[in-house]
Amino acid sequence: MSRVHSQDVKLAVMDKLAERGIKIEDIAKIVFEMQHPYQSSLTIPHCIESVHAVLNKREVQHAVLVGIELDMLAERGKLSEPLQSLVATDEGLFGCDETLALGSVLGYGSIAVTTFGHLDKHKVGIIKELDTKTANGVHTFLDDLVAGIAASASSRIAHRVRDLEEQEEREQEERERKERERAAKSVNSFPPPAPELDENAG
Ligand code: MG
Repeated sequence: MSRVHSQDVKLAVMDKLAERGIKIEDIAKIVFEMQHPYQSSLTIPHCIESVHAVLNKREVQHAVLVGIELDMLAERGKLSEPLQSLVATDEGLFGCDETLALGSVLGYGSIAVTTFGHLDKHKVGIIKELDTKTANGVHTFLDDLVAGIAASASSRIAHRVRDLEEQEEREQEERERKERERAAKSVNSFPPPAPELDENAG
């Protein structure tokens, strides 16, 4: 059997998210809400870019495909009991939906984990729409997966902003060092100053 290319998996993930009514912009809006208090220059396009970067990760892609597949099978009554009822009714103590999504954020560190916990509790934006039991269809896994993607994209932004700040600091230090070197060189190229006269001498 030939190997499944990650780019094909990414396309399948994008198709599935669209099919389930999730726009990348919806996830980006959650990322913006999470990170804007810390990064005042943050824009929605930055957040969209970060969501795409997260969706390029295999572990995230696989979690999304598994979770959405289970939601869709439950929607069609295709799971065996008692799993069918647990997923279809979004049983509060089921927990596998949160665990799958939590696993997918671990590669993005502690900010992703704590942001995921926050989103799981407070249901921001599209997550709230998916979580309300009145919404059409079964979204037992999808709400957590969206929270996971948003949490990872938020953490990625937090780390990247710090990386850029540190890079800017290093570049500034390098510019200052070169400036000092240039100044020292230009001083050295002048004729040496005459020795100062000692007024107390003689
Ligand atoms: Mg859920």
